[in-house]
Amino acid sequence: MNAVSGAYNAAHLDRDAKNWMSRTGDQAQAKGRELEIDQYRVQQEPYYAEVNGEINLFTIAAQSRMPVMLKGPTGCGKTRFVQHMAYRLKRPLITVACHEDLTASDLVGRYLLRGQETFWVDGPLTLGVKHGGIVYLDEIVEARKDTTVIIHPLSDDRRLLPIEKKGQVIEAVDEFMLVISYNPGYQSVLKDLKQSTKQRFMAIEFGYPPREIEARVIEHEARVDKETAQRLVKLGEKVRNLRNHGLEEGVSTRLLIYAGDLIRQGVSPTRACEAAVARPITDDPDMQRSIQELVKAIIS
Ligand code: ADP
Repeated sequence: MNAVSGAYNAAHLDRDAKNWMSRTGDQAQAKGRELEIDQYRVQQEPYYAEVNGEINLFTIAAQSRMPVMLKGPTGCGKTRFVQHMAYRLKRPLITVACHEDLTASDLVGRYLLRGQETFWVDGPLTLGVKHGGIVYLDEIVEARKDTTVIIHPLSDDRRLLPIEKKGQVIEAVDEFMLVISYNPGYQSVLKDLKQSTKQRFMAIEFGYPPREIEARVIEHEARVDKETAQRLVKLGEKVRNLRNHGLEEGVSTRLLIYAGDLIRQGVSPTRACEAAVARPITDDPDMQRSIQELVKAIIS
């Protein structure tokens, strides 16, 4: 994760606090926040190979102030797509990796104590709402329920963010956009998005890219030759078919890129695919053996 779109974390909050402490007066504070949001601008165009009209769809959603849900398995290009779109739309991108301890305050902000003084620090969501950023809540379903409640008034036409601790409600500026990612494959009855949340978002479906596009992506990202990329894609397709034989989730484009990367750096194809494909996706020795058989037939 690069610094530009980096996940908002405790260290960041601490730095915010220091920034705040070092300035006085409203004007200086406002200026400080402007600088802060600038850190989230995507400076260089992230490479993205379009699959099926998603660039246009997302652009229209952004112009229409519509929240977007990116659906699909892990490692198939969702995050890269948002980075690419943030660059195209010239909007800052604030990424939050959701997890089970993520609270509403982590998103909205909190009072911090330094010495005798308390002061308020905006969380990533508030920052985006005020300054017109794309806030990307990655794997939203992992977050605690109170965080989904927070995004409800923001993700319908009210576009409001309640900051309970300050007794305030703020209205999102036009450029603010809420984007969430969601992997339907992982969900259980206990851990699923409620319909009342789901039905606030326009959804763009992601899958493993079609053959030619995936090969192009691997060639570009792993810097391998075309033939190696095509073989890895073929392996990917065969391994994904094993889902019908008990494999939980197919191999991601990300892992195929890792395999390519290892091969380019001199690791034997068999070893590279064992390390980057067979081992990560399953703990079942029989399944690993089946994958290694495929590797032998296709790659080595
Ligand atoms: P996730 O769906 O989990 O957010 P990522 O966006 O991180 O997955 O994708 C993993 C990697 O796969 C990216 O870093 C990128 O190298 C590559 N990738 C997948 N799909 C594409 C695509 N369509 N264009 C460019 N890169 C892609």
